[in-house]
Amino acid sequence: MRYVQEQPRQTVVHDTVDVLVVGGGPGGLAAAIAAARAGMKTMLIERHGCFGGNMTVAGVESLAWYRHEKTLDTEGIGIEFERRAFQMGAAIPEVQSDSYALDTELFKHVADVLVTEAGVIPLLHCLAVEPIVIDGVVKGVVTESKSGRLAVLAAVVIDGTGDADIAFRAGVPCVMSPIGERQAVTMTFNLSGIDTHQFLSYVAEDPATYGDWGEDWAQQSSEEERRMFSPYLEKQFRQACPAEHWGFGGSWSTITEDGQATYLNLVHRAGIDCTSVADLTTAEIEGRAQVLEVIKAMNSSIPGFEHARLRNYGMAIGTRESRKITGEYTLTGTDVLGEGRFPDSIGIFPEFVDGYGILRLPVTGRYFQIPYRAMVPAQIENLLVVGRAVSGDRTAHAATRNMMCCAVTGQGAGIAAAAAIKQGRTCRTVSLETVRKELDRQQVRYT
Ligand SMILES: Cc1cc2nc3c(=O)[nH]c(=O)nc-3n(C[C@H](O)[C@H](O)[C@H](O)COP(=O)(O)OP(=O)(O)OC[C@H]3O[C@@H](n4cnc5c(N)ncnc54)[C@H](O)[C@@H]3O)c2cc1C
Repeated sequence: MRYVQEQPRQTVVHDTVDVLVVGGGPGGLAAAIAAARAGMKTMLIERHGCFGGNMTVAGVESLAWYRHEKTLDTEGIGIEFERRAFQMGAAIPEVQSDSYALDTELFKHVADVLVTEAGVIPLLHCLAVEPIVIDGVVKGVVTESKSGRLAVLAAVVIDGTGDADIAFRAGVPCVMSPIGERQAVTMTFNLSGIDTHQFLSYVAEDPATYGDWGEDWAQQSSEEERRMFSPYLEKQFRQACPAEHWGFGGSWSTITEDGQATYLNLVHRAGIDCTSVADLTTAEIEGRAQVLEVIKAMNSSIPGFEHARLRNYGMAIGTRESRKITGEYTLTGTDVLGEGRFPDSIGIFPEFVDGYGILRLPVTGRYFQIPYRAMVPAQIENLLVVGRAVSGDRTAHAATRNMMCCAVTGQGAGIAAAAAIKQGRTCRTVSLETVRKELDRQQVRYT
């Protein structure tokens, strides 16, 4: 490894806030809105030009595709994302569930409105590069943007980067699955030129089910789940593709009357480390090429897709998994599949697990509680971590990575940060009674 010595420099303080949230995905967005609603001067910084994280950047439409008749769902800002999107014409009924599929372009505006209404100070095109840590306490972050290098100081920093960038650089112990076992990345895409009627008739004649996801998944699913409809394509590619592309397969989502298919989640690239800029570059370039191959296969094998053509790729490659912090508590598979209950619960999430070969749909009303301690890093004060980077084992991650659950952890952290500041305590020692008063006021279900 070769090094250069950078010159010491003074960095302009751009602003001082109560709560600084880094990363505007479902976790960070909910955290910022919750903290601002709890009366805090709150800033939300995001490296891209829009908020939403995977919802907008990767174009993931299905915020609550797990929801069925008996699902006992969470309440809070995540549900508000869905309802508000519907009210603003940015969502339509989702194809496999009792939920809405987001219009992920329009959701950029929905997120702007939610942020503005809550009084959050937005800062887009702004990459957080370094936490400011003094004696084990986070005091803010240094950012890079077109304005140069700027610092933002804060009483509490919430890491919503998905990759625990801030926590990791602050010295919080983090874990990553071995590269060969990590969830694949996906370049999502949208198509135009679909014969909608022909495709939907084909699906109606021969509907796929969750059982078609393959034998690995079936081992963990009930017979009822395996028989349920799933908007899934795979067998078509086995017939149409050369053997090297047999990994193609996954879900379709919205098919519009005017012949567009959006949020096609059909190509996967394993072995990518999303904390490596070289790997991310490979994933982008290969992802775009993979998409063109799968479109060719769709043209030849899927009725209604004969004349389909690329409308656009997702804004960037979609990450499912990278770093997770080691928190004061590490949520386990036993917790999420065993209706875990915790004295420090800040929210609930239905028993929905999707990843590592486990598919458990919440068709029963079972749910687990999410402990606040999973967001509190084992070391470093006044830093909380939300979204897919919260502390959990692999099976727990397959639940907490879901966007609605990311919003639960985000809202809980935003509220806890506000409570800690009001009490003059650290995030580690905040009184849960005060946190729960605000959870109640914001109508979050946590029992
Ligand atoms: C292809 C794909 C399909 C998926 N399908 C589903 C699904 O159907 N349903 C579901 O619920 N979940 C799904 N997921 C998972 C889900 O999208 C993610 O787990 C979830 O979005 C994680 O939310 P988050 O807020 O933790 O992080 P993210 O959504 O990744 O958001 C993190 C944000 O932080 C920003 N950021 C990162 N680093 C910095 C930095 N240093 N400075 C400033 N900003 C930064 C990023 O730009 C981003 O906007 C899918 C994921 C992928 C990739």
